[in-house]
Amino acid sequence: MTETATERATRQLENAAGYVDVDETVVRRLKHPQRTHRMTMPFERDDGTVEMVEAYRVQHDDVRGPYKGGLRYSPHVTRDEATGLGMWMTFKCAVADVPFGGAKGGVKIDPRELSDEEHERLTRRLTKSLRRYIGTNFDIPAPDMGTNARTMSWIMDTYSVYEDETVRGIVTGKSPDVGGIHGREEAPGVGVSVVTQRALEYYGNDVEDVTVAVQGYGSVGANAARHLDDAGANVVAVSDAEGGVYDPDGLPTHEIPSYNENPGAVTRYDAPVVTNGELLTLDVDVLIPAAVGGVITADNADRVQADIVVEGANGPTTSEGDGILNERGVPVIPDILANAGGVTASYFEWLRGRNRRKWPLEKVIRELEEEMNASWQDAVEEYGRLDGASWRDACYAVALRRLGKAYEERGLWP
Ligand code: GLU
Repeated sequence: MTETATERATRQLENAAGYVDVDETVVRRLKHPQRTHRMTMPFERDDGTVEMVEAYRVQHDDVRGPYKGGLRYSPHVTRDEATGLGMWMTFKCAVADVPFGGAKGGVKIDPRELSDEEHERLTRRLTKSLRRYIGTNFDIPAPDMGTNARTMSWIMDTYSVYEDETVRGIVTGKSPDVGGIHGREEAPGVGVSVVTQRALEYYGNDVEDVTVAVQGYGSVGANAARHLDDAGANVVAVSDAEGGVYDPDGLPTHEIPSYNENPGAVTRYDAPVVTNGELLTLDVDVLIPAAVGGVITADNADRVQADIVVEGANGPTTSEGDGILNERGVPVIPDILANAGGVTASYFEWLRGRNRRKWPLEKVIRELEEEMNASWQDAVEEYGRLDGASWRDACYAVALRRLGKAYEERGLWP
């Protein structure tokens, strides 16, 4: 049986709980989402046919602040996937120390088969179904796989029409033209790059001497590859859903269009082609899985040749895969730390929605780097304190301490 996202998140929580002196009730509470919304919506295709589509919003935990997390459009969306991803958001926001809880949701549909009109219609319909369950101080969605700034702008518009006022803080990751912030699109990738550079320094490597392979060339992967390239790393392999390319001499990351710019363009770039599976086992120094979940498994973890794995995607390493990498002494910098750049920039955008202050791009990037460096430092201290723990355990331990204190402070009532 393949491990589900919820099982993976739960195992990770249990492993880390062994290292931290946290109330057992807190751990038990964190194993269950606080609220799960399941919706079935009629959705009209361009040709007039009507399909019933499934959608979810799982609100996992709000002890540290309003529920926060993305909405994805993907054929793999299930209640279980949304639950696991919602749990990761709770831990991610706690590690990054942004005052949000965790949530996730999505629509079970293939976004590649949606025309722009269908994408808009589906999004407005979803907003209608969701609007009683979200709120600027309650649950704030954001982009994820298959959704983008335009999707968020449509959610904001639909919600605002119902409310009869412009409610900018209802989503983050929207266009800067309607209250988004510059840099939010690049933020998840920039965050991955910053954490990768700190990890390289920690292990005594110079970023200019390392080779990097990046799986996934969307908002996370492409921006991580380009930022690392700019920092001097040699990005030798990249891929998107259609496949990848590998050139030991390095790839021009800015010239290769990202998945958002031109889906499938990676494989049309003139360099030797590799499959997504082959990319994971290339002889590189750093491997960044930044596409889908569950790609490093018991079947390939012993063949991963990278010295460091940095998780750009949510949940890319299965528990078995993780166990093998740990045994082999390959450090895995976990998703909840490495890809927290997106939600950190979302926090800046949410603040902008409240105080109307402008956030120029330089300020977003500077503050994002500061926040990521601070989270890395917290993880390093915890890693040093815990004997025999992995980086994942250490990051969960940071999160658990913060969540535990919040639960203790707020108490259990009623
Ligand atoms: N979907 C992104 C993530 O997985 C961002 C969530 C947010 O900004 O709320 O972290």
